[in-house]
Amino acid sequence: MRIDSIQNGIVIDHISAGHGMELYELLGLRNADLPVAMIMNVVSKRMGRKDIIKIDADIPVNLDVIGYVDPKATVNYIKDGELVKKVNIQIPKMLTNVLRCKNPRCITSVEQELDHVFKLTDEKNKVYRCIYCEAKAGK
Ligand code: ZN
Repeated sequence: MRIDSIQNGIVIDHISAGHGMELYELLGLRNADLPVAMIMNVVSKRMGRKDIIKIDADIPVNLDVIGYVDPKATVNYIKDGELVKKVNIQIPKMLTNVLRCKNPRCITSVEQELDHVFKLTDEKNKVYRCIYCEAKAGK
């Protein structure tokens, strides 16, 4: 895999510097057994420094996860070496099974089959709360 180009896959660009690793973890790429390149602290004219993740495989990525970590990121879909689609990310209003509620008294820790759903309650400060117990999502 060449770092500067992939044939079929996804490039997540314009990730705020320092957030690439968090995104990598939340997207489950560590255990995905795919060719992934993480490029950190790239100089960007637009944003100073940025991280980039390149996935050399045509897999679905959860855009909500990307929007949660960094709504300023862009997702580029590459096919046969060409950019075929570019998606601007938005901050998701709801997150389902992305974060887990850490409140031991929350119903989700008793009812194991329940979805872990968090709702954006403060867009400016990016605060998510569990819809069951209202506990704040901890990063
Ligand atoms: Zn909860």
